[in-house]
Amino acid sequence: MMRYQANAFKRQANKALQDTTLQQALDRAQTGFVARRAKALELVDDFEHLKQQARAAKERALSEAAYLLERFECQVTANGGRVHWALDGAELNRTVIDICRQAGGRRIIKGKSMVGEETGLNPALEAAGFELVETDLGEYIIQLAQEPPSHIIAPAIHKTRHQVADLFARHHRQPPRTGDSIANLVAEARQQLRAQFLSADVGIIGANLLVAETGSVVLVTNEGNGDLSANLPRTRIVVASIEKIVATLEDANAVLEVLGRSATGQAMTAYTSFYQGPVQDDAAGSPQSYHVVLLDNGRSDLLAGPYRDILRCIKCGACLNHCPVYSNVGGHAYGSVYPGPMGSVLEPLLHELASTRPLPNASSFCGRCEEVCPMGIPLPRLLRQLRDRQHEQQLEPQGWRRGLGIYGWLSRHPRCFRLTLKLLRGALWLVPPPFWGQGRRPLRPAGRGTFVEQWHRASRNER
Ligand code: SF4
Repeated sequence: MMRYQANAFKRQANKALQDTTLQQALDRAQTGFVARRAKALELVDDFEHLKQQARAAKERALSEAAYLLERFECQVTANGGRVHWALDGAELNRTVIDICRQAGGRRIIKGKSMVGEETGLNPALEAAGFELVETDLGEYIIQLAQEPPSHIIAPAIHKTRHQVADLFARHHRQPPRTGDSIANLVAEARQQLRAQFLSADVGIIGANLLVAETGSVVLVTNEGNGDLSANLPRTRIVVASIEKIVATLEDANAVLEVLGRSATGQAMTAYTSFYQGPVQDDAAGSPQSYHVVLLDNGRSDLLAGPYRDILRCIKCGACLNHCPVYSNVGGHAYGSVYPGPMGSVLEPLLHELASTRPLPNASSFCGRCEEVCPMGIPLPRLLRQLRDRQHEQQLEPQGWRRGLGIYGWLSRHPRCFRLTLKLLRGALWLVPPPFWGQGRRPLRPAGRGTFVEQWHRASRNER
């Protein structure tokens, strides 16, 4: 399995920028997401109103999270299922493995789950001897490629059609195809997965929302693989993090109104399913046992702290699609499960700040992420707070801290500041072009004097 490290962001980003195939894949995919979202929003009378309703629904849920989660558990139990609580990733993995062992089978099919990625569920299940097949097309592709996902809703966004065709040719023992059209590739994956769906003992799915009032788990997919994974095997396991809770079906609907539009530009995702419990009559089919495993992994602590806003995130991916950093380097460069602006906030909060040091700095602070976020999450402010914490904990490289110290001193001594600027401005002419990096033009002083000198001159002339 390919490994990435958050602390190697700079090296990984440079590598991504030089990868022309990746750049092609990113260009095509990103443009599509941005255009589809823009078109979907044009068709809505008042998207701001929908955003406010969705945000209010999540805020209500976070304010009463403890009560609502207990209510959800009561409803799931009343519906014939069972809720398990996992304090961290290791506990979630152990719980899922135990349920799979009790189910008595070895074959598992799985729908896309970012919580599963967060806890490393797949390697844990495989190490425990289970055969696991991802059924979401993107997840299936990266499972074959042994790579982590590079986008929270489009895990194989970094792959081109030709790369997928090569991958399938290597892994599927099939006669040569007549062409590598996307339709052909999808048909091939569908054929491979069909047998897996029919023979699986356990189906694992993620969740977009948990509804306290009814005990329903809401899952959206565009391929229908979630429904097959949830409904065909005898045992169904849902893995979800606790902030997915909402109070009522009405609140769930408020979130769904903005989720599809922000994620894929759809008014409603093709398959929006509500799962309740196992079948009541054994003869009626599957699933006969139903489990929901809820992950905390530090989220309860976030609820009461200054980063609570990030728990409103519905993982729509809009902030990734509109981020100039993500659009250029892709998801793997971040070296984390959650890439892009939301990941640059969430990852340092789920892990230590030191091991994810570059992430809060992987932003130009252009503010586009906050602008497109349907849940109004102030991502730039949260990133700035994390940078402040890094500074307090002295996590920046020594050279960086020294530079900031010098800048601080100069800004308190205006004369020295102006003199230094003058000297630096003259020195720009001496910097050789390779210093500026491949494909960049050397920066040259514009006009006579520094900006401040030119400003003063212009003001004097106006008077
Ligand atoms: S932070 Fe906002 S835009 Fe980004 S994934 Fe979460 S909800 Fe979507």
